Amino acid sequence: MLRTGEEYLASLRDGRVVYYAGERVADVTTHAELGLPARETAQQYGKGADEDAATLAERTVLLPDGERVHRWTVPPRTPEDLVAFVEMEANMVGDEHGALSAGLCSLQILARKIDAKYGGDYTSRIDTYADWFARADIHGAFAMTDVKGDRSKGPSGQVDPDLFLRVVERRPDGIVIRGAKTSVTSGALCNELLILPTHAMKDTEGDWAIACAVPANAPGVVMVSNYIGKTWGEKFKFDRPLTHSWHHHDSTVFFNDVFVPTERVFMDGQTEYTREFLGYFTTLHRTRILKMEPRDTKQLIGVAELMLRYNGLENVGALKGKITEMVQTAVLLDTLRYTALNRVQYVEGICVPDAAACNLAGLTVSSTREGYLTTLCELAGGPVLTAPSGLDMENPEIAGLIEKYYVGKPGVGAKERLALIKLVYDLAASDAAGFNRALGVTGAGSPGARRVAVARGFDIEACVQGVLADLAGAE
Ligand SMILES: Cc1cc2nc3c(=O)[nH]c(=O)nc-3n(C[C@H](O)[C@H](O)[C@H](O)COP(=O)(O)OP(=O)(O)OC[C@H]3O[C@@H](n4cnc5c(N)ncnc54)[C@H](O)[C@@H]3O)c2cc1C
Repeated sequence: MLRTGEEYLASLRDGRVVYYAGERVADVTTHAELGLPARETAQQYGKGADEDAATLAERTVLLPDGERVHRWTVPPRTPEDLVAFVEMEANMVGDEHGALSAGLCSLQILARKIDAKYGGDYTSRIDTYADWFARADIHGAFAMTDVKGDRSKGPSGQVDPDLFLRVVERRPDGIVIRGAKTSVTSGALCNELLILPTHAMKDTEGDWAIACAVPANAPGVVMVSNYIGKTWGEKFKFDRPLTHSWHHHDSTVFFNDVFVPTERVFMDGQTEYTREFLGYFTTLHRTRILKMEPRDTKQLIGVAELMLRYNGLENVGALKGKITEMVQTAVLLDTLRYTALNRVQYVEGICVPDAAACNLAGLTVSSTREGYLTTLCELAGGPVLTAPSGLDMENPEIAGLIEKYYVGKPGVGAKERLALIKLVYDLAASDAAGFNRALGVTGAGSPGARRVAVARGFDIEACVQGVLADLAGAE
């Protein structure tokens, strides 16, 4: 049953334990900051089954028995499904679904492999859970990133074994887990937490090779939200055009001996599958970059070109060169997006995008965006930080002064030029811009992990042998 936004919000009033800035939150949906992303995510649910036909076509699919469910709960089976998913995510406000969907799909792939080897019932467990998740129209968050302690060591090498989430007790009807997961986006705003292993485990690390699902209000779950400052609000719409009413919520989730019934356990001790799981998960999850790029790079190009035009500098060769460089990146990202969504592989019936192209797109963005934002600051000049507020233009005592002196080339008024400068501020210099900068570095995995993923499967030895053969031929 498709839920409405109101039903989604009501489901968050379930006694969950959430802290924000040192205080227990009574109701996340009405909280000054957490309520903002909660209401954004509620927009994804909208009017439920009563949405208009275009929205239903974009956001939902029909199951074989005719039940309509949200697209983000159904595994991609074809490249067209992948494209529809990426485009849907790009057009929606609120928390994304890529990672959760990647988690469910990867577990469905792995369950089949584990059952083929051991003859268990993981396939029916995860399929039943995923089917319930889709039909009950659940909002989930993925809890993968362990706190980790000494990064040079795996779970079994830590002084405190709880630094990676683990099974502390096995009962006939389930398991008890203990540990903490960091950076869980949407944690306090989800119905379900999908717990996944953070990295490949050694064969002695079975207690840490754990994947399972836990309701956000389960006894023993405690969430502590991040704090990113007060939201500016509608009043500052002109000054912070992108993020005046924005708040990005991530939680640290503590699991204090949480009981998980057997039917919600999707991996328990199969250490040899953790690496393969991560391969599928990270590839499916990194479609996130395909959602945002090359659109975001094109936005930067548009802003840079417009700034040159407003300032009368559009024919300066050195500045045009900077834009040409950005265009090359946008074209490269377009090509990688195409490759990722077309050079797919089918694993256990699930359509997995091209891993190298997804990761290369991510690396391309993380290695270029920073420089492009610096270019925008350069082109916008000092006013990016020092210009008057939009509120000053509403005060007749000073509005005339601002309108006279902040103009660009003839025909470009102060208001339109300042609007563009404020956009640069919000892209490159605001506190939200700083948040997004760091998010781009490690969100969806660190650059190091992406480099490893790009190199995986590349035959370096063949390169060496080629050179040795050339050298031998030259003797
Ligand atoms: C905004 C945001 C949202 C996120 N959302 C989620 C989410 O919803 N769910 C979730 O599970 N995670 C989420 N993450 C976490 C993200 O996946 C991790 O930040 C990322 O995987 C890096 O892990 P870490 O933060 O623990 O960094 P660390 O593991 O501390 O690594 C920091 C750096 O140290 C280096 N390093 C670490 N270990 C080693 C090693 N053994 N050898 C060599 N170098 C090493 C790497 O350069 C790495 O970048 C989110 C992160 C951000 C920023």
